[in-house]
Amino acid sequence: MDGIMVRQVAWEQYDEQEMQKVFAFAEDYKRFLDKGKTERECAAEAAAQAEALGFCSLDSVIREGRKLQAGDRVYCNWMGKSFMAFIIGEKPLEEGMNILGAHIDSPRLDVKQNPLYEEEGIAYFDTHYYGGIKKYQWVALPLALHGVIVRRDGSKVTVAIGENADDPVFYISDLLVHLSQEQLAKKASVAVEGEQLNLIVGTQSLKGEEKDAVKANVLKLLKEKYDLEEEDLLSAELEIVPAGQARDLGFDRALIASYGHDDRVCAYPSWRAVADFEGTPAYTLCAILTDKEEIGSVGATGMDSHFFENVVAELYAAANDSYCELGVRRTLRNSRMLSSDVSAGYDPNFASVFEKKNAAIVGRGVCFNKFTGRGGKGGSNDANAEFIAEIRRIMDGANVDFQTAELGKVDVGGGGTIAYMCAKYGMNVIDAGIAVLSMHAPWEIVSKADIWEAYKCYCAFLKEAKAF
Ligand code: MN
Ligand code: MN
Repeated sequence: MDGIMVRQVAWEQYDEQEMQKVFAFAEDYKRFLDKGKTERECAAEAAAQAEALGFCSLDSVIREGRKLQAGDRVYCNWMGKSFMAFIIGEKPLEEGMNILGAHIDSPRLDVKQNPLYEEEGIAYFDTHYYGGIKKYQWVALPLALHGVIVRRDGSKVTVAIGENADDPVFYISDLLVHLSQEQLAKKASVAVEGEQLNLIVGTQSLKGEEKDAVKANVLKLLKEKYDLEEEDLLSAELEIVPAGQARDLGFDRALIASYGHDDRVCAYPSWRAVADFEGTPAYTLCAILTDKEEIGSVGATGMDSHFFENVVAELYAAANDSYCELGVRRTLRNSRMLSSDVSAGYDPNFASVFEKKNAAIVGRGVCFNKFTGRGGKGGSNDANAEFIAEIRRIMDGANVDFQTAELGKVDVGGGGTIAYMCAKYGMNVIDAGIAVLSMHAPWEIVSKADIWEAYKCYCAFLKEAKAF
């Protein structure tokens, strides 16, 4: 590569002290990954951290009719699946907020509403995959079951099975290679089909039971351990994710292999940048960790919902003497946002789909995408050049290693993010993020240096971005 796109290898700029910070931050991030393998777990963990840091819940602010002052810290755990945190600034809200956004849902397999059945002595949970996956990657590996089951009376059972060393795991079988002649000749997209993603949950039969004795035994265990009836599965959200913890990768431990980097690798540093902010900011600061991005940001907890706008309206009402709809509109319109989501890391094994000088390289810092989309930027927020110039100023001032990229070669494919949904308020938004290898695979790969540069980028943005 040559020309203006040459960017420093992030690792080469660190002195010993900063190198320690890079690795320490990665440890914090790995702990967050291990605690948050679903959007609910991520939102709960962020909310617990917020409480510990003295952030007040927006619910309590509303309930008590409290007035918000500059320096106040507020969070909101929206339906248990999306999380927002704010630090009220010195300037009026109408001058806009500095917003960091990312998503905390990740591709996975969801358990169907009527899931449990038995065939030839094997009890299965039927699944429906969530988000874009290569189905063949989700067979023949240990899987964990996370989620909630809500009984008719509203009481809730929370489960996370398969993460501790002595927990059982779950599994989807693949065909033995000896009999795979036909399967291996198929297109990879149909080599394993959606309705074949059936999770093995038990094989021991209940004594004395004539029909479906294995299923009966699973139900008996669910009753004994969790006081659940089969019907309770109708009102459950159970997610199947790869079992196991985030791990260092490579002799140098410079990479992290984990489930769910997309997009917790942006969500965690975004939240941390707000959490770590000291003192009172000039502008109000915001981190928003949202749900449902992987299926189009729809639903009441996705970015396309009005929940964010509603929360900003509540904030406005609490920070001003009177509510003013125009004031809320100005708050949103005048805001600045980094909409962070993972970038496709350039993969030398699959070089043909990338255009190298506009590809995100692992280890070369945080990545800005002027546009995303597919086939002629379709569906993309195309950030303004004026805003990008402002971003360059801020990044260079804070000595942040950054690169610019697009998802792949023109006409090869594409993808979307939450950026265009925030842009509909008229605010300046740009896609930012971190390069990932094997995106949407059960185990994804990111560089510790890129996580650190993203964190530095977010801190600088919160501090320096201003109305223009
Ligand atoms: Mn994503
Ligand atoms: Mn994704």
